[in-house]
Amino acid sequence: MSIYESLNRSSSALAVYLVAWSVLSIPICVSAQQRPAEEIDRKVEVMLGKLTLADKIELIHGVDDMILTPAVPKIGLPALKTSDGPMGVRSWGPTTAYAAGIGLAASWDTALAQRVGSSLGRDARARGVNFLLGPGVNIYRAPMNGRNFEYFGEDPYLAGQIAAHYILGVQSQNVVATVKHYDANNSEYDRNNINSIVDERTLREIYLPVFETAVKEGHVGAVMDSYNLINGEHATQNQYLNNDVLKNDWGFRGILMSDWGATYDGVLAANAGLDVEMPSGKFMNAKTLLPAIQDGKVSAATIDDKVRRILRIAVEFGFIDHEQHDLSIPLYNPQSESVALESSLEGMVLLKNQGHLLPLDLHRVHTIAVIGPNAYPAQPTAGGSANVTAISPVSFLTGLSKAVDSNTKVLWSPGLKDLSSIFKGGGFSLDAEGHEPGLRQEEFDNGNYSGQPDRVKVVSDLDFVGPDEVRASGRTLAVRWTGFYTPATSGPQLFITKTVRGDGDTYQLYVDGKLLMKEKGSGGEPQSAEIDLAAGKAIPIRFEYTSQVKVIRVEMTAFPAEEALTPEAKIVAALADVAVVAVGFDPSTETEGHDRTFHLPPGQEFLIKAIASANPRTVVVLTTGGSVATDGWLERVPVLLHTWYAGSQGGTALAQVLLGRANPGGKLPMSWWSREEDDPTFNSYYLAAGTEDLKYSEGVIVGYRAYVIDVNKPEFPFGFGLSYTTFSFRNLSISPVSAKADEPITVSFEVANTGHLTGAEVAQVYVSDPSATVPRPERELKGFERVVLKPGETRRVNIRLDRRSLSFWDVVSHGWKVDPGKFVVRLGDSAENTPLNQEFTVR
Ligand code: BGC
Repeated sequence: MSIYESLNRSSSALAVYLVAWSVLSIPICVSAQQRPAEEIDRKVEVMLGKLTLADKIELIHGVDDMILTPAVPKIGLPALKTSDGPMGVRSWGPTTAYAAGIGLAASWDTALAQRVGSSLGRDARARGVNFLLGPGVNIYRAPMNGRNFEYFGEDPYLAGQIAAHYILGVQSQNVVATVKHYDANNSEYDRNNINSIVDERTLREIYLPVFETAVKEGHVGAVMDSYNLINGEHATQNQYLNNDVLKNDWGFRGILMSDWGATYDGVLAANAGLDVEMPSGKFMNAKTLLPAIQDGKVSAATIDDKVRRILRIAVEFGFIDHEQHDLSIPLYNPQSESVALESSLEGMVLLKNQGHLLPLDLHRVHTIAVIGPNAYPAQPTAGGSANVTAISPVSFLTGLSKAVDSNTKVLWSPGLKDLSSIFKGGGFSLDAEGHEPGLRQEEFDNGNYSGQPDRVKVVSDLDFVGPDEVRASGRTLAVRWTGFYTPATSGPQLFITKTVRGDGDTYQLYVDGKLLMKEKGSGGEPQSAEIDLAAGKAIPIRFEYTSQVKVIRVEMTAFPAEEALTPEAKIVAALADVAVVAVGFDPSTETEGHDRTFHLPPGQEFLIKAIASANPRTVVVLTTGGSVATDGWLERVPVLLHTWYAGSQGGTALAQVLLGRANPGGKLPMSWWSREEDDPTFNSYYLAAGTEDLKYSEGVIVGYRAYVIDVNKPEFPFGFGLSYTTFSFRNLSISPVSAKADEPITVSFEVANTGHLTGAEVAQVYVSDPSATVPRPERELKGFERVVLKPGETRRVNIRLDRRSLSFWDVVSHGWKVDPGKFVVRLGDSAENTPLNQEFTVR
C-alpha cells in the first residue's frame, strides 16, 4: 500500500507514520553547491559519452505530465519528478499550504522566505520530488492578473530578494527550484497569444531583475519559459531572452524548460535555448530534430548543451547517488505546519485600524460574529496549478472559535446566498409601464452596431448563447439589449453579469443612461454593480456586448441587493460586540488561465456595507491576491486586514492577530488604488480591439514609481502596513557622502519601537537620482530590513548600496549606467512616507 493510500484510509495510519518518521528523522544530505565543479563536469562528460543521439533527444522533453526526464539506467539517471508549487508541493497528494507568494512578499522577511523554501524542499523530499515548479515571480502590473497571488508583488528588488532566499531554501534540501514564468507574462487573459511589447530598458529594470537575482544570488537550477510572446517571439523561441540574456549575460548553467504546452516550434525552440519541452515532446522530438540535425539546421553541439545541463543538475543535486524520496520526513509534517503558520502571520497586513478596534480585548468582547463566504470553509490557496489540497486547513471560523475562551461566543453566518440561487434572470420589461415582460435584442454582424441590426427579437431574459454560425465563423458580433427595470423595493439594486466567453469580449451596462458596469476583455468571472433606485419606477437599461472572438454565453440579472443576503446575516452582526466579515475570491474566481475582476465578487461589497450598518464595529478580512476596489465601503468600516491566501494555518494566524497574540507587521508589496482608473496601467493593461500586441506603454513607471511623481495618490502606498505599536527612524547617515561609482555606500540608521508592544517594522531605503540624464522614477527601493523590537528598544541597521542600486539601463551602451552627480537616500516605512533623507554624491 502506498503512503498516500494509507493516508487516505485512516487517520490512525497517519499517526503511525508520524511516529515512525519522527523516530527515523535524519538530516538531509549535502546541498547542491557543496560539490566541486570539476568533479561534476567530469562525471557529466562520462555520462554524456554513453548516450546516443536518440537517447539525448529522449532526454530533452517531458515524459508524463509531471516527469521531466525519463530514467536512463545505463548512466544511472533516475526519472526526474516535478511538482507544482509555489505554495505547496501540490502534485503528489495533499500537503501543507504555505501563505501565497504575495503574502510571503508582504512579510518582507528574507529569512522567512528561506525557511519556507527549506520547508517546501523537505515536503518535496517526502514525496520524492526532484524539481519544484516555483517560485513564480512575475511582476504585479495590475490587480486583475489571475496569478498575482502566486507572485511577489510590484517591485523587482523586493521580489528578487524574496525569490532568491526562497530558492536557497528549496535547494538546500537538494531539490531544484524552478523560477517562472520567463518573461513579461503579467496577465492571464489570452496568455498563449498575447505579444508583450516591452522596451529594452523596461525589461531590464522591471521585468528581468527578479529572474536575474534568482540566477545570480539564488543560483536557481531551473527556469520556466512562459506561454506568451515577447516583442514578437514566443518565450520558448526567444533568442534574446534565452540565449543572450539568461545564458550569456547572466551565465545561467541550469535547465530552461517550457511551461506546459508553451512550445510551438521544435527547431526554433532548440536553437533559441530551450533545454526541455514540457510536458511531452510534441515539438522537440526525434521526428523533428533528427532531420534538422542532418540538414544542419540544429547542431549536435546544441543538443549536447541541453543534455549536459540536465546531467549537470542531476549530478550537482545528487540525483544520481541518493534516493530522492526521503521516508524519514513525514508527509503531514508538524514542522511544515509551523512554518506555514509563520508565513501567514508575518504576511498579514493591517491597513486600517480606526479607534484601535484591534486587537480585540476578550475582557470586553463577549460575542464575535464571523460572517462571509471566506470565513468558512478555509480558502488556503487560490486556483490553477498553484492550488494546493491542504491536509487539514484551518478556516477563519475554526481558528477564531478555537482561540477564544469559554466566556466568548462565536456566531456564524455565510452572509451571502449562493450565486446560483440568486441569479434569477427576468425582471425586465419592454415598456415603462411594465406591461410587456422582456428585452429587445438586436444583433449586428459587424462588431460596432453600425447600420440596421441583422437580427431583432424580444427575449424574456438576458441569457444569450451566440448563434452557432457566428461562433463558427469567428466573426465579430455586437448585441444590444434595451428595456426597463422596475425595482420591487426601494434601495440598492444589484446588477450581476455572468459570462462564458472569448478573451477580448467586452460589455457595458447603462442604467438610466449612465454607465454602471463595464468589462474590458479579461476573464469572464461574474461581476456586479450596485445602484440606488426607487420602488415602482421603471428605469431604462441598455446592455451592449461586443465579441472580438466568439461569443459564447452572457447572462444578466437585477434585483434588490438585500435579497442577496442570508436572512440571519444582519441579525447575527447586530447581536455581536464585533463583526468579522471575511470576503474575497476563491480558487474558481482567482486563478491562472484568466483574470479576475477588480471589484469583489457579486454581492460582497453590499454585504460589507450591510454588516457595517448593523454593527459599526466591523472588521473586514480580505482573501485576495492583491488590491480590490474599496470605493464605497472602506470609509464605512473601522478595520481592514489583508490576509492574501493564508495557507493551511490561515485561521490560526488570523485569530492570533485579531486577539493581539501576534502583532501584524506585514507591509504591502504593491500599491493599492481604490479606483481602477487611477492605476498607471489602466490604459495599457488590456489588449486594444483586433490586436494581440500588448504594449507596456507605462514603461518603467509601474506601481509606486508612478505616484510619487503623479497626482493619482493610492489609497494605500507600496510598503504600507500598520502595527499595534509605533516606530520611529533616527540618526540617518551615509558613508561615504562622496563616492566613486563602484564604491559601496553604507546607509546607517536607527529604528526604535516607541510603543508598548513588541512588533516588527520594515525599514525601507529608496534611492532618487535627481540629476539623471534620462527620466527615472522619482524613487526606487534599493534596500530594506525587517526589524523586530521590544517596547522601548532601538536597533542600528546598516544597508549596503552598490553600483547597481544607483544605475539605470542605458539603451545606448546596452548596459547598466550610473550618472555621476547628486543622489538622495530616503528612509521610511512606505514609498510615500520617508521622513528621513540625505544626499550623497557620486563622482
Ligand atoms: C502553469 C505552470 C505550471 C504548469 C504545470 C502551467 O499551466 O502555467 O505554472 O507549473 O502548468 O502544472
